[in-house]
Amino acid sequence: MKKWPLLAAAAAVPAQRLARKLSSSGLPQPAPLPPSVPVPHADPPAEMDLVAVPTGVNNRVAAYAYTGGSFFDKRDFYIGAALIKHPQGDLLVDSGFGRDIAKQFATMPRLFQKMTKYEVWKPAVEQLEAADYDFSRLSGILLTHAHWDHMSGIPDFPDLPVLVSRRDRAAFYNPEIFGNFRGYFRDTPFKWQEFSFEGGPYLGFPRHHDVYGDGSIVCVPAPGHTPGSIIIFVTLTHQVRYALVGDLVWQREGLTRRLERPFPIRRLGDFDAEGNRQNILRMASIMQSIPDLIVVPAHDQRAFAEMSQLPNVTTRGRILSAT
Ligand SMILES: [Zn+2]
Repeated sequence: MKKWPLLAAAAAVPAQRLARKLSSSGLPQPAPLPPSVPVPHADPPAEMDLVAVPTGVNNRVAAYAYTGGSFFDKRDFYIGAALIKHPQGDLLVDSGFGRDIAKQFATMPRLFQKMTKYEVWKPAVEQLEAADYDFSRLSGILLTHAHWDHMSGIPDFPDLPVLVSRRDRAAFYNPEIFGNFRGYFRDTPFKWQEFSFEGGPYLGFPRHHDVYGDGSIVCVPAPGHTPGSIIIFVTLTHQVRYALVGDLVWQREGLTRRLERPFPIRRLGDFDAEGNRQNILRMASIMQSIPDLIVVPAHDQRAFAEMSQLPNVTTRGRILSAT
């Protein structure tokens, strides 16, 4: 008789794990940041701005984006960049679809190509040209992570340094890591510029990198989706705060309701799903402590509508002058 409770307990462990994998409820709400973790001071210059640069969409549904999402809830994933304007040098966060996307996409695994339908509106370089943007202001492309849909446009800016975390630069050349173009970039002479996280703890993250030393653009390590994924905190004047979280989650529900990617998707698409979960919980704590924080998953159009817009682009991301 004594065996049964033991057997039941042994069976319960995988059953609990399975239940969690299949559950459509979110991760538990973490506590806000403790008072010992202050909201960091930032001193942004008045000319700073954050501008959406949409380059197209991936046609997806909510069921692909987060656990419990509906197959009937159509979500066109934003594919694009965000332009941080700063007097010490503008930065493009990610690059969206570039001119060569069709050629690049053909190098992705067959099954992925079958599962993925995308629309290219206009590459970032052409949108900036159309907006009479002064390219001499641009000092680099800052990658949230080194995946295909964030890197496609890099060759359109051949002279720009590509700012990347050390771990993602290494992962980019690892053919076993899913999410990279196969071979397309192998011979592309990127101007990689690795950065390290020289600063101490920041909003509960262990380290940080303050790009211009004024607290206005701060990167923290958030490994999980890729080994070297980062989150970028951008603070504009009047302490308007954004968190560009990359692919930590794909839609805002991933953070507001703490709904991870569905199990099969995170199994396939996340390098370290457990690490990613810890960073979701960290961000959920921060969102409680800074309720006005504007959280920007890299593929959520609603988030990019809360930035400044380039001319001829509606707040819904459609490019009016697309040709
Ligand atoms: Zn992505």
